[in-house]
Amino acid sequence: MALYREQGIVLRSYKLGETDRIVHLLTQGRGKVRAVAKGVRRPGSRFGGRLEAFSHVDLQLYEGRNLDVIAQAELLAPHAVVREDYARSAAASVMSEVVDAVAQEGERDNALFLLLRAGLQALAAAPADPAVFVDAFLLRVASIVGFHADTDACAVCRRAGPHGFLSVKAGGSLCPGCAPPGTRMVDLEVLEAVRTLAAAGEWAVLPRLARERPLAHATAASYTRAFVEHHLDRRLRSYDVVPRG
Ligand SMILES: [Zn+2]
Repeated sequence: MALYREQGIVLRSYKLGETDRIVHLLTQGRGKVRAVAKGVRRPGSRFGGRLEAFSHVDLQLYEGRNLDVIAQAELLAPHAVVREDYARSAAASVMSEVVDAVAQEGERDNALFLLLRAGLQALAAAPADPAVFVDAFLLRVASIVGFHADTDACAVCRRAGPHGFLSVKAGGSLCPGCAPPGTRMVDLEVLEAVRTLAAAGEWAVLPRLARERPLAHATAASYTRAFVEHHLDRRLRSYDVVPRG
């Protein structure tokens, strides 16, 4: 069996047999990897606590026919502070769930890897209200996989905005000419909040958005959930456990 080395972030794991676990990881070079950690549930396992959810690890793995086998794991960033806090752990669970859903096995996706790492780092930096990081993360994942929530121009005719009609299905804001009857109309503040959430890179501005414009953020958050569930065509099971202020 061929041995390879990868960096990865643990998305989830579940029990296999008496002492093993199957671990889902997002790796930097090979997309999603599903691998067996043998003996990990035995006391004194050589993996120790290094394969807990959200851990960023340096791995050596053997290629397997169906599942790879983890030979070694070293912690790069444990993110223990995220796991040990209820709100932050709930937020990280939504991030892991959506990544587990969209990541492809054997397909490198460095943008997705860097986004997950940045999202977990943002949570680890102790924000008071982690929900806003979940909202941003979801819109940014959607953008990486091809569904960017567009608030700068009309999503149908591309006429420059801002336009106050906001549509989940059309993928962003719509001008009065393109908005079908019944399309929701929102304040420019809400469009601005959606733009801030979806913009790649910026995490530091998010707590201020949640604190200073709570209503615009709340509307943008509910739009985000509907947008992501519609375009990724799935329900976000862990979304409702994230505390919202
Ligand atoms: Zn239009």
